[in-house]
Amino acid sequence: MSDPLDERDVAGEPLAVVARAAGPYLEGLGERPVHDPAQDVLLDELGGPLPAEGDGAVAAVERLVRVGTGAATHSSGPRCFHFVVGGATPAAMAGDWATSLLDQGAGLWVLSPFAARAETVVLGWLKDLFGLPASFGGVLTPSATLAHVTGLACARYWWADGYGVDVTSRGLGGLPVMPVFSSGLVHVSTRKALQILGCGRDTLRTFARDDAGRVDLAAMEAALERVGGRAVIVANLGEVNTGDSDPIDELADLAERHGAWLHVDGAFGMFAALSPRTAHLARGVERADSVTADGHKWLNVPYESGFSFVRDPALLSRAFGAWGAAYLPDADDERINYNMLGPESSRRARALPIWATLRAYGRDGYRAMVERHLDVALHLGELVEAAPDLELLAPVRLCIVCFRYRPDGVPEHRLNELNAHLGEALLADGRVFAGTSTYRGMTVFRPAPLNWRTTKSDVELLVDVVRELGADLNG
Ligand SMILES: *Cc1c(COP(=O)(O)O)cnc(C)c1O
Repeated sequence: MSDPLDERDVAGEPLAVVARAAGPYLEGLGERPVHDPAQDVLLDELGGPLPAEGDGAVAAVERLVRVGTGAATHSSGPRCFHFVVGGATPAAMAGDWATSLLDQGAGLWVLSPFAARAETVVLGWLKDLFGLPASFGGVLTPSATLAHVTGLACARYWWADGYGVDVTSRGLGGLPVMPVFSSGLVHVSTRKALQILGCGRDTLRTFARDDAGRVDLAAMEAALERVGGRAVIVANLGEVNTGDSDPIDELADLAERHGAWLHVDGAFGMFAALSPRTAHLARGVERADSVTADGHKWLNVPYESGFSFVRDPALLSRAFGAWGAAYLPDADDERINYNMLGPESSRRARALPIWATLRAYGRDGYRAMVERHLDVALHLGELVEAAPDLELLAPVRLCIVCFRYRPDGVPEHRLNELNAHLGEALLADGRVFAGTSTYRGMTVFRPAPLNWRTTKSDVELLVDVVRELGADLNG
């Protein structure tokens, strides 16, 4: 029989198994395909019935590491451009291991002043990095989706309060539908957050003046007037097809004029604030009432890592505090209980990898990384424009390049199907990952280079592989 109690004097051994595998894995990650289909047979080793007699920690972890280093998607390597996927910097990765090593209950100050302090420190550093006022409240979340839930729960509290209803205790019963307005750039996760909050995913109204989804400010303003300003505006900083952004400053003006709530989705786009080359895109975000960003994308912290910032810190505890409005911690109160400021109760110390990576590379290191990615994206855009069989579909503004395969002689009505097949072929090939999406009715690729390891040669390979597989399909 295997019992963890028998392992207490050798409890570091299974960790040593992981640590021994880590060096070769991380050092070889740059050479690996993103996914090697030949390794999928290893997945069978995960199966079988629940063992009655356990293997013991070392054998179990050895198996897990062997299967994982072979069959996992090596998406933290330099050539996973699918969706918007970051990597894990060496410091963030080690900080994440430290999180498990120390296993802090990071919801309550009394359980871990260390975790609470680290969270307060990193939230301060992140506000500084993003140019948000230090007076904003904040909380770390598992993702941008949960950061939307956090920020929009505060918006919902504020909005219901306007009807004299404490939504935290009473719920939404009897209230009208909360008006939520955005542009066509809005991400599906905003709708999901509204759905979770009981506001309904399809109540969000978009105001777009073109098929790229750019905001129609006049139409939105007219709608704001109709609801007397008591509405939530969602501004999008970094859209997932093209990297486009709403004019945050102008939406902040609208919100201010009408007394509306401004929520900004800066899941990855918030990092535009780090470089003078792109900071104009983020201008106005400091005027928002709530802001969402992700750690597991452009910050290159392991999953799961997101942040929510809210202008009025008291609203976080009103929306989530277990004992309601009586408990109002200051933004920098060291005895802060972070599980009263967000949707989670028990939670891990997800500040630690963020702390490690910001401490390791600092503002300048992150600015350099963001600018390297801007250069890589521009380079990819140039390669696409120079290739006779590729078509660039939007200007490269941030870290996403939107294009499609368009060889001579293929009629427009066949291009979507061809690109969809090419997308499947690319994922099956596995050397580089990039997925397809729909943009202005077209099936497109929208690779997002934002892994710390990625350099120009990685996107050169992407272009070569897309053209090679495209020629095979079209030949
Ligand atoms: C990825 C993304 C989200 C959702 O983030 P998760 O961390 O996956 O929940 C929201 N908005 C934008 C713009 C994104 O790119």
